[in-house]
Amino acid sequence: MNPIGILGGTFDPIHFGHLRLAEEMLELAGLEQIRFIPAGTPPHRGSPQVSAQQRSMMVQLAIADQPAFVLDEREVKRDRLCYTVDTLGELRAELGATQPLCLLMGGDAFLQLHTWHEWERLFELAHIVVGYRPGYTLDERIEVAPEMLRKHYRERLCAVEVMAHAPCGGVAELAIPKLEISATDIRRRVAEGRTIRYLLPNAVADYIHQHHLYTSC
Ligand code: ATP
Repeated sequence: MNPIGILGGTFDPIHFGHLRLAEEMLELAGLEQIRFIPAGTPPHRGSPQVSAQQRSMMVQLAIADQPAFVLDEREVKRDRLCYTVDTLGELRAELGATQPLCLLMGGDAFLQLHTWHEWERLFELAHIVVGYRPGYTLDERIEVAPEMLRKHYRERLCAVEVMAHAPCGGVAELAIPKLEISATDIRRRVAEGRTIRYLLPNAVADYIHQHHLYTSC
């Protein structure tokens, strides 16, 4: 069974950094599909004048021409904070015990995994696929992470190909060039009246301008 990928984020707004990460992971990990799950009420961040529904709409516009990318709105439809572990639990219940699931993230996010709610349970629900910049192996950077995270990383490290044969529990790394694009920078550019063309899909840029989003930082 080909694994299903899960990419959560604030997507405030979604940009080509997210889309290239997803596209490369789709190919390199042989994923069936990738579910984009915009966060509902992001703690300590986000743009107050942009609603969760608008962030979600921008994801929909961005992924419209890639049939393997699917918008999953379960977190934005909730009125309370959602933890990844709960979202994964729901997906596991819906998709069945044997379906391989891969939680996708950048290397920086993985090195902070121990700060996530009930983070060790994530391994019982999904594999984790980490994208790292070529030349910056996680193997060196993991040395500064807490012992428990290092232990899981070392014990669970596997080839991404293996993930199709088990529902959860592995950690794989993929060398994926990181585009120097950040949502923070895009928001700042819009607020300053500067161009955002070629940093994100035209449909998303048009939506931002039409709805006067990010006009103040
Ligand atoms: P900000 O720039 O405001 O920090 P962000 O785009 O980094 O926002 P999210 O939308 O939460 O934040 O990111 C979702 C996921 O996409 C994370 O796993 C993050 O590591 C990854 N990601 C974000 N930007 C890039 C990029 N330029 N290249 C590759 N992966 C990225």
